[in-house]
Amino acid sequence: MARNKVQFQKGLSMAAFNQRYGGEDQCHAALAAWRWPNGFRCPKCGGAEHSFVATRRLFQCSACSRQTSARAGTIFHASRTPLMKWFLAIHLMTSAKNDIAALELARQLDVKWDTAWLIKQKLMEVMRQRNSTYQLEGLIQVDDAYQGGEKPGKPGRGAKNKVPFIVAVSTVDGKPRHMQLRVVPGFSKEAIRDWAKASIAPGAQVISDGLGCFNGLDEAGLAHTRIITGGGRPKDPEFLWVNITLGNVKSAVTGTCRSLDERHTPRYLAAYEWRYNRRFDLALNLERLARVAAKTEPAPYGRLAAVRSKKYRHFAEASG
Ligand SMILES: [Zn+2]
Repeated sequence: MARNKVQFQKGLSMAAFNQRYGGEDQCHAALAAWRWPNGFRCPKCGGAEHSFVATRRLFQCSACSRQTSARAGTIFHASRTPLMKWFLAIHLMTSAKNDIAALELARQLDVKWDTAWLIKQKLMEVMRQRNSTYQLEGLIQVDDAYQGGEKPGKPGRGAKNKVPFIVAVSTVDGKPRHMQLRVVPGFSKEAIRDWAKASIAPGAQVISDGLGCFNGLDEAGLAHTRIITGGGRPKDPEFLWVNITLGNVKSAVTGTCRSLDERHTPRYLAAYEWRYNRRFDLALNLERLARVAAKTEPAPYGRLAAVRSKKYRHFAEASG
């Protein structure tokens, strides 16, 4: 049997990881290079002349004396965890097909569970923001779905306590290329229109099952084909890849994280989306995410809307 090229590709080995990012100085140098690809610039006065305070890893501006850390103002801001551990977290979160639980991450990084959980949330937030800069193009299958359980059938749409999201898969020659898992405020025409305008490239051809909210696709100016199905999740071949994707998402995200606080759902879906769309070249994934993280603003605990009850923490420890 022919080997699946995607499944059997070489990723970044732990040995290669250690060679490149096994020391704090190496990680710091990499971060500084990604943050200032054309050389250091003082965030206060814009000056390029600087000295480096090696003991504290600070860049000191020669013009205004302002000291700047490469971590300040990035996703690594205000964290006491060494960059080496952050980079290892990025490696573990981007090199495998599936999600890594915060508990396992805590073991691998040798940090407390709370620390690992927060690092994971912040890196998933980087993924979410990055995803939002891409648009799907070409031939696209879409459907509506809920995090928290199987859609019970068309009359059951809108179930309470479930997080509505759109699943959209672009295909080339009948094979899936890229996909999106985007939480929407609800399945209204306006919500679909807004999502489509932001997330689907003009000229794309979109196939839906004709649910009313998908009229928003026409309002977004897209070519829209309705394939009316007999209720329930559409089984027609036109929806093959949204169905397969949803099945996989269900076991990877919905199945394991069904008890998670709904405020975190967009990030879990985003992490799945991010990994899926970068499945072809795993060895590059660490650098891809780290480069963007170096350009992503801090996401403090409060902004991640993380209020964790004891009950929630219990579930998250088991699954998140
Ligand atoms: Zn300066």
